[in-house]
Amino acid sequence: MATHTTKMLIIGSGPAGYSAAIYAARAMLEPIVVQGLQPGGQLTITTDVENYPGFRDVVQGPWLMEEMKAQAEHVGTRMIWDTIVSVDLEHGAPFRAIGDSGDEYIADCLVICTGAQAKWLGVPGEQALGGKGVSACATCDGFFYRGKTVAVIGGGNTAVEEALYLTNHSDNVTLIHRRDSLRAEKILQERLFANPKITVLWNKAVDSFEAGANGMLHHLALTDTATGEASTLEVDGAFVAIGHAPATELFKGKLPMDESGYLLTEPGTPKTVIPGVFAAGDVTDHVYRQAVTAAGMGCMAALDGERFLAARQHTVKEAEAAE
Ligand code: NDP
Repeated sequence: MATHTTKMLIIGSGPAGYSAAIYAARAMLEPIVVQGLQPGGQLTITTDVENYPGFRDVVQGPWLMEEMKAQAEHVGTRMIWDTIVSVDLEHGAPFRAIGDSGDEYIADCLVICTGAQAKWLGVPGEQALGGKGVSACATCDGFFYRGKTVAVIGGGNTAVEEALYLTNHSDNVTLIHRRDSLRAEKILQERLFANPKITVLWNKAVDSFEAGANGMLHHLALTDTATGEASTLEVDGAFVAIGHAPATELFKGKLPMDESGYLLTEPGTPKTVIPGVFAAGDVTDHVYRQAVTAAGMGCMAALDGERFLAARQHTVKEAEAAE
């Protein structure tokens, strides 16, 4: 068991964590990134990325995350493959965290970038056809279905927004919902029902995602939740939009969260209510959820962290001078 001491501990290794690390390392804060269970985050389970600025051609999600990691290391970040299992925020800075490895981390400030996970239906074919027709992000992958037939599964704001977004690329969008009414806000529902490119299939549960001879998604097997009748729907792409779960279990009772578990920050900043504790990326953002917005928030957290540390050092020096 080792004790790691750092000016800035960054928990999580998606675009927010790596961007925070790049800025912190360049500010000579010698940050540590504890990478977590899925180093590289959600982008490591996507394939083509076409909307991250700086690349003319499509890049692969796992490659992009490796590059971000290498960049962070190159400027002086220490990567540690561990998962934080407990944190002590109660006593203020320096903060103490314990890893799954048993290692202890002592940090003058903390940047939480633990991200979120899309919820999946957990039915056959869903994971096997990930990147081959099945996705959980229309903004990321909708562009690949130009002129094709697509379905969105879910009945909340995300599902309706994704269906509306997909009509930019496809004239044939089906929203599949397990009940006969939507949870989404009324204004979104009005837009949905007014859009001639969208058909709603009510009372349908997706039983499986089925591949065609080419190994790509070919159709969905459905069951009517009211009558039990089975049917199929041929689609080129299916977007599962049944919600996201932020990775905030660790902070329950320690930091304020909204009703869905997203960490609350001071509006327009990554500052939590505890001075020296910052949150960036999908762990605090259920609206934009993009790699580029997460990266931007990671940068903001590192800059605010640097200011916090400078002010703290100033206070310590003043106290020493007064003694
Ligand atoms: P929600 O939890 O609001 O909705 C999830 C939807 O998926 C529900 O319709 C639910 O069905 C359905 N669902 C859940 N599990 C299953 C399952 N196993 N099988 C089939 N269907 C399932 O999630 P969202 O991602 O839509 O929204 C999350 C939060 O983010 C909300 O607070 C939302 O308001 C907010 N948001 C706000 C936006 C905005 O303001 N522009 C945009 C997007 C999200 P059922 O209704 O039957 O429970």
